[in-house]
Amino acid sequence: MSDYIVLVKQVPDVTQITDNAFDVETGTLVRSRLASVINELDSQALAFANEMRRISSDKAGKIIALTMGPPMAEEVLRYSLSRCADMVVLLTDRNLAGADTVATANPLAFAVRRIVKEILKGSKDYYVISGMQSVDGDTAQVPPQIAEELGLPCIAYVTKAEFKDKRFEFTRIISGGSQVVAAKKKPAVVTVAKYEFPLFATFAKARQANQIQIIRWGSDDIKASHIGVTGSKTSVIRVFPPGKSTRKCEKVDDAKSLARLIVDSFKSGNGEDAQGEETRTSRYVLPGKRTAKFERGFEGTKKENENYTFLADKLSELRITDTNQIDEACREKIIAVSEGHFRKKALDDMIKGFELTKPSYTGEVWGVAEHNEGRIHPATFELIGKARELADSLETKVGVAVAGYEIEPMAKDLITAGADNIYIIEDKLLSEFDPTAYRKAIADAINSYWPQIVLFAATPQGRMLAPMVSYRVGCGLTADCTGLDIRDSSRKGQIGILLQTRPALGGNVMATICTKNSKSQMATARPGVMKRLPVDESRKGKIIKHKVELTEDDVSLEILKTELGTGEVNFEADVIVSGGKGMQSRDNYERLVGLLCDGLSKRLDTQIERGASRAAVEQGFVERVHQVGQTGTSIGPKLYIALGISGAIQHMIGVANTDTIVAINSDPNAPIFKQCDYYIVGSVEDAIPQLVQALEVE
Ligand SMILES: Cc1cc2nc3c(=O)[nH]c(=O)nc-3n(C[C@H](O)[C@H](O)[C@H](O)COP(=O)(O)OP(=O)(O)OC[C@H]3O[C@@H](n4cnc5c(N)ncnc54)[C@H](O)[C@@H]3O)c2cc1C
Repeated sequence: MSDYIVLVKQVPDVTQITDNAFDVETGTLVRSRLASVINELDSQALAFANEMRRISSDKAGKIIALTMGPPMAEEVLRYSLSRCADMVVLLTDRNLAGADTVATANPLAFAVRRIVKEILKGSKDYYVISGMQSVDGDTAQVPPQIAEELGLPCIAYVTKAEFKDKRFEFTRIISGGSQVVAAKKKPAVVTVAKYEFPLFATFAKARQANQIQIIRWGSDDIKASHIGVTGSKTSVIRVFPPGKSTRKCEKVDDAKSLARLIVDSFKSGNGEDAQGEETRTSRYVLPGKRTAKFERGFEGTKKENENYTFLADKLSELRITDTNQIDEACREKIIAVSEGHFRKKALDDMIKGFELTKPSYTGEVWGVAEHNEGRIHPATFELIGKARELADSLETKVGVAVAGYEIEPMAKDLITAGADNIYIIEDKLLSEFDPTAYRKAIADAINSYWPQIVLFAATPQGRMLAPMVSYRVGCGLTADCTGLDIRDSSRKGQIGILLQTRPALGGNVMATICTKNSKSQMATARPGVMKRLPVDESRKGKIIKHKVELTEDDVSLEILKTELGTGEVNFEADVIVSGGKGMQSRDNYERLVGLLCDGLSKRLDTQIERGASRAAVEQGFVERVHQVGQTGTSIGPKLYIALGISGAIQHMIGVANTDTIVAINSDPNAPIFKQCDYYIVGSVEDAIPQLVQALEVE
C-alpha cells in the first residue's frame, strides 16, 4: 500500500495581473497586490496522486498535503482537503521566510521525514508528488533538492502513470521525446509536468475540509539544517522590470495585409534578430588590469557604481593616488562633501575595497555537457560560448564535464567550440542518463577540481541534474538565467563574482541574483539566449579522465522505453510553418499546413519546412521529429509561422532566434501575440485559405 505526500504551494495569481499590481516607481510587480491561489501544477499533482491511488486499487493509501508558507497558506490545504487529501500539514514560521530553493527544499524534506516517522509509521512505501515548478519561482529546483536531501530517486516532468506488475510506470518528458521509467526502489519523488484531469470539490468533501484539523509545525518541530535567509545560498540583489519585447507585436486585420508583410519582411530580412541576453553590458576587466587604481566601473549595482565614481572623483580632486594617502582628515573631508552619499563605515569599507584585486572565487569556469547518442546537445555549445567569455574576463580556463559511456570522441567538438579542458567521466552505468548516477559523477568531479563557476543548460535534463548536484556539493543555484555577468561588490569584499539574471513571476519581473555561502557559483542557462562561438578547428585542449566509483545501486531508474523523433527534417530552411493543438486534427494539420507551405514556396521561391508544437505531436498530428522548442529542435529561420499555437515558454524558447514570427490564433488573448511580430486573430480554417489566396496576388 503506497501513501502519497503531495507538496502544494500558495502562489500569486500571475494570470490575473492588473495595472495596479505594479509599483509605479520601480515598474516591478508587487506580489502582495495579487490574489493568492494554489499553484496550478500542484493542483494537478494532487489529482495525479489521486489517480495513482485509484489505478493501484489501493483505497487505503493516504494522501497527505504538505505546504510551507505564511499562516494564510492554510487555504491551499483546505483546497487539498476538499479534493482528495486525507490529512494536511502546514509548515509555518517567521524563521522560514525569505528562503531560496535550498532553504525551501531542506525544511520540506525534514517535514517529510517527520510525516513518515509519525504518520506513516516509518513506512518506505510512499511517493512525494509535486508540480514540476511553481509559477512564482519557475525554478523546478525544489523537488530534486528534496530528493537529494532524502536520498530518493527523482522522476521529473511526468505526464502519465500506469500501474503494471504491481508497480508504477511513469511517462516523462525528455529532450527530443518521451520516456517510460520506473523507480528501482521506493520511496521516490515524482514531479508532474502536465495532468489534464482536474479534481473538483464535492459538497461533502468541502464540508469535511473545514472540519479536519490542520497539523501545524514551526521550524523547531522539524529541526532542518538550512532555513530562511541565513540558510539560503543565493540572494537577490536587484529586481527590475523586464525589457520590452523586441518583437513588433502588430495586429493585422486582413489576410491581404499579412501576405504583404510576410513577403516584405522575408525579402528585406528586416525582422527582429535573435533576442539577446538580458542586461548585456561591457566586458568585465579584473581590477588589477584597469587603467587606474581607483577605477571601479564594474560594480554589481547602480548605487555601488555611483558611490565609487563619486569617491574616485573626490580622491582625484584631493590629488590622492594611493589608499595609504587617505588619512583620517581626508576621510572627514570626503564625508563632509558627500551630501549623505556614505557614512564613515561605508567609506572605510569602500576604501578597503580598492585594495582588492583578486577574484573572490578561484578555479575554472565549467559547463556540464549534455549529449544523446553520441551527439552534443546544441545548448552545451552555447554554455561553452558563455563560459569562454566569463573565463577570459577572469583570466582562467574553460572546463567541460562530460559524464557517459564511450564519450571521448565528443571531446573534439567541445574543444573547437571554445573549451580548454574536458573532464571525461566514463562508466558503463552512465550509458543512459540517470539523475542519481549522473549527479554522483558530476558532483564528484566538482568536489575534486572546484571550478569557480558551473553552468548547466536549462533543458529538462539540466534542470533536474543541476539542483541535485548543487545541493550535494553545498552550493547555491540560479535557474534559467538569461543573463550572466562578472561584476564586483568591492565594498562587500567581493571581486569577480557571477551575477545571474533571470525572469521570475511568470516573466513579469527580472531578478539579478548572486551566490553566497558556497564554494562555487552555479546556474542553469536558458537555451537559445547565450551565443555559441564559431567553430575553431585550430584550438587545442586537454582531456582529463576522472574516475568515479559507481555501482548498480547508484542507478535509480529503470528505463523501460524511450521514444525519440526519427527521420529527416530540414530545420535549416528559411521558412518554417508550424501547427499546434489548435489545428484540431491530423487531417487539418496536413491540409492547412501543406496548403500554406505550397503557397509560400511558390511566392517566396525558397525552402519551407513543417514544424509543430509538442502538444500537436502528442495529439498525433505529425511525427515527433517535427517538434520545435525546448525539448524539440531550436530553430532560427528568417520566417516562422505559428498556426494554432498558444506560445508556451517551452515552445517560444525554440524560436527565439527567428527573424520574423507570424501567428494565427483564434484566441484574442493568446500569449503568442506578445511574442511575435505580426498576428491575425482568427481560426486557422478561415485564415489560411485567405492568406494563401492573398499570397498569390500580393
Ligand atoms: C519540460 C517541458 C518541455 C516542453 N517542451 C516543449 C517543446 O519543446 N515544444 C513545445 O511546443 N512545447 C513544449 N512543452 C509543452 C508546452 O508547455 C505547451 O504545452 C505546448 O507548447 C502547447 O502546445 P500548443 O500551443 O500547440 O497547444 P495549446 O497550448 O493547447 O494551444 C493551442 C492554441 O490553439 C488555439 N486554437 C484553438 N483552435 C484554433 C483554431 N481553430 N484556429 C486558430 N487557433 C486555434 C488556441 O487558442 C490555443 O492558443 C514542454 C513542456 C514541458 C513541461
